[in-house]
Amino acid sequence: MHVKKGDTVEVLAGRDRGKRGQIILAEPKRDRVRVEKLNLVKRHQKPSPQYPEGGIMSKEAPIHVSNVILVCKSCDKPTRTGRKISDSGKKVRYCKRCGAEQD
Ligand SMILES: [Zn+2]
Repeated sequence: MHVKKGDTVEVLAGRDRGKRGQIILAEPKRDRVRVEKLNLVKRHQKPSPQYPEGGIMSKEAPIHVSNVILVCKSCDKPTRTGRKISDSGKKVRYCKRCGAEQD
């Protein structure tokens, strides 16, 4: 995947198009991510030991990775990333706009 947990991304589709948030969970097997406070769905929670009150809760629904784009840590713009070997020999992603390493 081109994004991972902890990345700041911009959403490209759906109700939250254009909004930014941080990835709280990545699911590489399903090509999906959950982004904090975005793509919320309401869940009707029955009373349970963990939530004795029950009620309606908001929860992040998975977004397909093709519908998010990484926001560069350096230039703060949505950007495509490339991959390269850094000076320290690690594989890193870099911003195709400004060249800053993202990992
Ligand atoms: Zn950049």
